[in-house]
Amino acid sequence: MDRLRDRDTETLAEIAVEISPATTSRVIREDREWIALGAPDATVMEETWIDRPTAIAEIAGYRAAEPFLDDDAVRLAAARTNRMFLDRCPDCETELEQGVDMPCCGGYSGPGEEPAETLVCPACEVRLYTFEPA
Ligand SMILES: [Zn+2]
Repeated sequence: MDRLRDRDTETLAEIAVEISPATTSRVIREDREWIALGAPDATVMEETWIDRPTAIAEIAGYRAAEPFLDDDAVRLAAARTNRMFLDRCPDCETELEQGVDMPCCGGYSGPGEEPAETLVCPACEVRLYTFEPA
């Protein structure tokens, strides 16, 4: 992750498209930087948007899994799971905080349902992982 952190988001977007099933990527700068992955004729609704810290963690996890796993899809899944073990932000190295995922429009989706716990970078305001109740 140290090496990826120094790259600009355009470079990360190029790497992300190489290791994912997507065929296109573009960088979006709004409140923060995103990498949008999609197919050439995909609409915005069909694109997958990944924020920069998540992209760094997933690319690093994917590369780390390379010697152990042959299947690309399995490696991507492993890279995703990898994010739950982070203790610092992959991008700015701020210590991550555990939070609780509060629905914005009130109430939980079902009675007795616990809100999901999350791992958040307070500096980037990015959620790195959501612990889903089993
Ligand atoms: Zn951060």
